[in-house]
Amino acid sequence: MKEMLQKKLDTGIFYLEPGETPIHITSAGLMLCGRKKIFIDISMEGELSEQLVLRENPDILIASHYHLDHSLWLRRVEKDNREVWAPHKEEGYFSDIEHFLDGTVGYESQLRDQFRTVLKFFLKWEPVEGFRTFSEEKVDLGDFTLHIIPSPGHSPGHSAFYIPERKILFCCDIGVGQYGPWYGWRDSSILEHVDSVLRLRTIEAQALVSSHDGIFTNPYEKLTDLLREFFIREAKISEALEKGISREKLVEDGIYFKSKHKVSEPQRTFITVQDENMLNHHMKVIQEGGLRTFFPDIWQEFEKDIKNSVST
Ligand SMILES: [Zn+2]
Repeated sequence: MKEMLQKKLDTGIFYLEPGETPIHITSAGLMLCGRKKIFIDISMEGELSEQLVLRENPDILIASHYHLDHSLWLRRVEKDNREVWAPHKEEGYFSDIEHFLDGTVGYESQLRDQFRTVLKFFLKWEPVEGFRTFSEEKVDLGDFTLHIIPSPGHSPGHSAFYIPERKILFCCDIGVGQYGPWYGWRDSSILEHVDSVLRLRTIEAQALVSSHDGIFTNPYEKLTDLLREFFIREAKISEALEKGISREKLVEDGIYFKSKHKVSEPQRTFITVQDENMLNHHMKVIQEGGLRTFFPDIWQEFEKDIKNSVST
């Protein structure tokens, strides 16, 4: 029988992976067993999540942000006598499908209707009821504490989770994997995302735990690599635009999704829209003077890499 894999990170702290489905397709989560038992982002896989909830009987279920691979499980599991927590800034995304569509695909009716159909009929999206919201918060679990750290940018309420007594930082979707950061819906923000990475980089962690790329033992280096990626992407986009390369060509070549031709519909439409959004977010920052204007010290930190990344 399929079962969730539990990897012990420390006493009472477990990394949960869905087993057969790779975490870059679905997502991994955390189980914290202290004075209270907390699940964070368990999995997109409904059956596995339900089994685990019934077996472990957690007190609190937390979604790090509204994206479906992190929140759909809340619709699949038994919630009686459990608290459900969602980010304060994303309250509407959990309760109202039209709010969800506003923030992701926006108002273009054909795409909006298509996404609504996918959500309702394919993914069985439904409002989460009776949840409470969180922003920056500390939860005393007895032997250790859970610090909730808002880390917006990837999404408006995206949050990270830090356990200072064990120096474990669960950075969720901040983007430490091989594909780099993702900010592909309308509600994403590059400036907030960079700010969030800078904040997480100051945290003293020995283990950096991610939703889609496993666990890293060099948090500072991984977060530095991630930061650099924003600057290099911007430099490449600026250079291409100066050379007269069209926006369509940039999207086709991919800001994040480099091999769209390998993907079938309707996914191809959605990843194309996400790359368009990522390009739009970069263009907005470039029009305002570029990342260098907003983060001059960080630009200097990467100056050599940025200059090496472009051909001129
Ligand atoms: Zn996400």
